[in-house]
Amino acid sequence: MRILLLLLFAFPTIAFAQTASSPRYVLVIHGGAGTILKSSMTPEAEAAYHAALKAALAAGETILKNGGNALDAVEAAVRVMEDNPLFNAGKGAVFTNDGRNELDAAIMDGKTLSAGSVAGVTTIKNPITAARAVMEQSPHVMLTGKGAETFAAEKKLEIVAPSYFYTESRWKGLQRLKKEDSLKTTLDHNEKQEAAVLQPGNRDHKYGTVGAVALDLHGNLAAATSTGGMTNKKYGRVGDAPIIGAGTYANNTTCAISCTGWGEYFIRLVMAKSISDMMEYGKMPLSNAANEMIHHKLPQLGGDGGLIAVDKNGNIAMPFNTAGMYRGYVKDGKVVTEIYK
Ligand code: ASP
Repeated sequence: MRILLLLLFAFPTIAFAQTASSPRYVLVIHGGAGTILKSSMTPEAEAAYHAALKAALAAGETILKNGGNALDAVEAAVRVMEDNPLFNAGKGAVFTNDGRNELDAAIMDGKTLSAGSVAGVTTIKNPITAARAVMEQSPHVMLTGKGAETFAAEKKLEIVAPSYFYTESRWKGLQRLKKEDSLKTTLDHNEKQEAAVLQPGNRDHKYGTVGAVALDLHGNLAAATSTGGMTNKKYGRVGDAPIIGAGTYANNTTCAISCTGWGEYFIRLVMAKSISDMMEYGKMPLSNAANEMIHHKLPQLGGDGGLIAVDKNGNIAMPFNTAGMYRGYVKDGKVVTEIYK
């Protein structure tokens, strides 16, 4: 009899513990995908990247664990990486063909499907904060160039001289790429080769964009991405990062995604929204949808890169088809940062 009573009391409790999912927060970040090889990295550089990723995670986690919202967390994490010259976003952004730093960024709120982005800006210290201001303080979604800069100044965001974004290593990167390109052009006049040379950047380079996605304790998702784009880009080229649905997307019914890689391919594949659609309409789990896009569709077109994602249940995906991707996450009290495959 005592055993029976015990079982009666115990079972509902057990059943409840198994089905009710307690609220949790998750934060995932990336610092870009690309040809990141252990053989070409010093232990010091490796340690610096891990420390930088941890600092960005800490900034976002402080907000999430205190019940803050996903939007604030992704913005905070991205700002830390924009301010760090190790990454191709904010200070440390890559150079355009004519020696400028033109920055793109986007943010999206999965709860309301509100979004904001800026493209081709040269004087806004933290483009991700400008993207958020576009979302929250304007009737628009995307502002570009001078207009975006005027808007940011009006909203009292921090404005800097274009020279603030300069770093010697990125400048050298541009010179190297220009030299390689002119060599390729003079050595081979085959039309296809020339077309490839005119692409912004090239396969052998690290992308270095930064991004963050989060699930907060209230069940809301958000995504943010910020980048200097691709080295040697021309003609006001804009990549996937500031294009909602391509490089950045969040929807509380599915997932939040931030991409890094050869932007032209991510735009053509409408990468982030495609994954969300595969989940919503095709009932696919996040990892299957993300793997299908990154490991099949992207290489089929000839593109490369990776992404980070978190779904509404806190599942994470971080697929990439390059040698490495700077990445990290905080989940269930565990902090993890990784670089290589
Ligand atoms: N996706 C970015 C772009 O094409 C580059 C990157 O990920 O670093 O602008």
